[in-house]
Amino acid sequence: MNQSSNKILVINTGGTITMAAKASGELQASKGEVLVELIEDLTSDLCSKIEVKPLQLSNGEVIGTSDSSEIGPTHYNAMAEMIIRENDDYDGFVILHGTDTMSYTASALSFALAQNNKPVVITGAQVPLSKPGSDGLQNLRLALFVADQAGKSLPQLTEVMICFAGQLFRGNRSRKSSTRSAIGFSTPNAQILGELFPVPTIFAEQLRRQPNSYPPLNSDSLGFSDKVLSINLSPGFSGEMLLKIIEGSDIEGLVVRVFGSGTAPNNFNLAEVVKEAKQRTGDRFKCAVIVTDVYNGSLDIMRYAAGKNLRSEFIIDGRDMTPEAATTKLMWVLGSTERKKQLVKILGTAICGEMSGQ
Ligand code: ASP
Repeated sequence: MNQSSNKILVINTGGTITMAAKASGELQASKGEVLVELIEDLTSDLCSKIEVKPLQLSNGEVIGTSDSSEIGPTHYNAMAEMIIRENDDYDGFVILHGTDTMSYTASALSFALAQNNKPVVITGAQVPLSKPGSDGLQNLRLALFVADQAGKSLPQLTEVMICFAGQLFRGNRSRKSSTRSAIGFSTPNAQILGELFPVPTIFAEQLRRQPNSYPPLNSDSLGFSDKVLSINLSPGFSGEMLLKIIEGSDIEGLVVRVFGSGTAPNNFNLAEVVKEAKQRTGDRFKCAVIVTDVYNGSLDIMRYAAGKNLRSEFIIDGRDMTPEAATTKLMWVLGSTERKKQLVKILGTAICGEMSGQ
């Protein structure tokens, strides 16, 4: 077996994995000293070169590590830009990230890096590396292992993934599903990409496309809007209230988690809200994407009469997308003038495996 010596870049954005406890016992972001100590050991294991860098803007400014609740559109852009910038120098990328918003980041990056032909593996931990019983070391080792497959034994997965508790997920199909268990993530509407424990196995039929079939990666795919609101439809909440929220803010796009396979009560006529909101805001408000609020499943808005108020040109059917994927896809579409011009088409098309169908 050919053992290529690859170069892997680890980007440390923070999260529990590299956190340290304050005197009060609360966990907070650290510079990742524990991580640096581990790298030498991990390097000899993999026969590849691993470098750790903080998240950096193109002007060299470092974005410090943080709890992942702080991570949003600016960070997605910085991460994607950094990976595009460093792409020729590395064979794979690992991102250390808090688990709370990891699925959002994984989804966001999958859109911005849809043309990338190198693995981007995101991982973190439920317990810090510095504490006994941490799941961080195994997660980190396995993430590095997956990122390091160029010229090695496993089929090379060239997409944005989450590696957690020995399982490998398509980033934009993943969801955080436990705040306590080491098995912190799941993929409700899609197959997992691989089982890494006890014997690493990649389910090759899940490969999105072959590494050599990618068009060039460039910065045209960057840009995320921070004018997206994602809400859960709740019984009693009216379309009128939603309209007031949209009018009184600078929201351009909405994700609504509707009931079941696509129903909403009569007093929540989303088709009317969207039409009215576009008019009242002079087309500043663009559209809504709907997904189901059910953990497993997809929309079928023609199934029930109670789906009638969800049918309109500017309400995009998110099919079986996760709320995280729908939200970040909308941020991404609204983040560029070019993409905005074709928003109904882009939002309705599966572009990197984020939903079933074409
Ligand atoms: N609050 C932490 C974060 O998301 C949780 C974790 O990393 O597991 O940054």
